[in-house]
Amino acid sequence: MKTVTVLGATGSVGRSTLDLVERAPEAFEVLALTANCDVERLAAAAIRTNARLAVVADESCLPALRDALAGTGIATAGGGDAVCEAAAMGADWTMAAIVGCAGLRPVMTAIRAGGAVALANKEALVSAGEVMTAAAAANGATLLPVDSEHNAIFQCLEPGNRDAVRRIILTASGGPFRDRDAAAMHAITPEQAVAHPNWSMGAKISVDSATMMNKGLELIEAHHLFAMPSDRLDVIVHRQSVVHSLVEYRDGSLLAQLGPSDMRVPIAHTLAWPERMATPMAPLDLVAIGRLDFEAPDPVRFPALRLARAALEAGGARPAILNAANEVAVAAFLDRRIGFLEIAAIVEDTLGRYDPGAPDSLDAVLNVDAEARRIAGGRVKIGV
Ligand code: NAD
Ligand code: MG
Repeated sequence: MKTVTVLGATGSVGRSTLDLVERAPEAFEVLALTANCDVERLAAAAIRTNARLAVVADESCLPALRDALAGTGIATAGGGDAVCEAAAMGADWTMAAIVGCAGLRPVMTAIRAGGAVALANKEALVSAGEVMTAAAAANGATLLPVDSEHNAIFQCLEPGNRDAVRRIILTASGGPFRDRDAAAMHAITPEQAVAHPNWSMGAKISVDSATMMNKGLELIEAHHLFAMPSDRLDVIVHRQSVVHSLVEYRDGSLLAQLGPSDMRVPIAHTLAWPERMATPMAPLDLVAIGRLDFEAPDPVRFPALRLARAALEAGGARPAILNAANEVAVAAFLDRRIGFLEIAAIVEDTLGRYDPGAPDSLDAVLNVDAEARRIAGGRVKIGV
């Protein structure tokens, strides 16, 4: 039996994770499930999986959670510290699927407890990069990439041949606006932006895919996970989302991982790692797919990619500022307080206004994150 904790259990990745866990009750024992405030979904999942503990990050939702789980024997807790306590329970395998930098402290707590941490929460790694990878090394924790591209790369990297890697190539679907005219992009609505052509995901990452900031964050994520410099990380647009990423070796071999665009495939890879488990999805029908297309990304219509590349190359606090400003801008866009094109503009503006030294601890990263949010929030109010 593997003990499992799911941070962000009610979200898109969290629900896919529980779907796999619930299909193999003989293999997994659930310790803790956490959510922000989706009490109904959290309580139902805790009952179905017979979890020991259910936690809401938003403490005002705790009374409702207590009511929902009264008489079940499942313990309940609320607040940010309680989420970290759930992460510290020492599960063999922890899914980090909270969205945004809100997941950083819980992820770091899970890392410090050792064990395997399946990382979906890319914003935490983008913000805390070196601090997080150093903590993983110091505590003997294994970071298992859940993001489909990084999971593909992880599968294609030959352990003994890391020095022979010439390039890592991240594939991008290009999002819902890959064919949209530059002149029509200002009018994009939140509804259009969250309607991703290939993947069903939470609202924040769907908007990131639409601006291609998601691919920018993934470049930074790949840098930290695979210790690759920026000049050996490429992005290509591949609209079918069948090839999830590639590793090129110096002999000219290109290894790719292909699979259905269903997050249960990469999640299952990390859940069973280093073994393999069955998943319920139909296998890819390559004949039905027929062709695979690749094209270069357009840096003019998708400036977020350029901003993220520059933040990666500058290092230090730049990725944390990029991420924080993007989180604020995406939330404002989803709230209809700013337009689609202002998302990247606010990120660029915030990066131009704030340039602290490299954060060398978790608290230092959280301070940079808070200050960048304050500045970006101000730009949302008065406009860039
Ligand atoms: P989602 O919005 O569907 O779910 C987010 C989860 O985090 C929910 O359980 C929510 O309750 C919880 N949460 C939100 N705010 C919180 C807070 N302040 N404190 C504690 N918990 C909070 O998001 P998602 O699409 O499942 O994405 C989760 C993470 O995985 C993101 O970092 C995303 O970039 C990454 N990711 C997602 C996908 C995907 O297919 N959805 C693919 C790759 C990577
Ligand atoms: Mg991805």
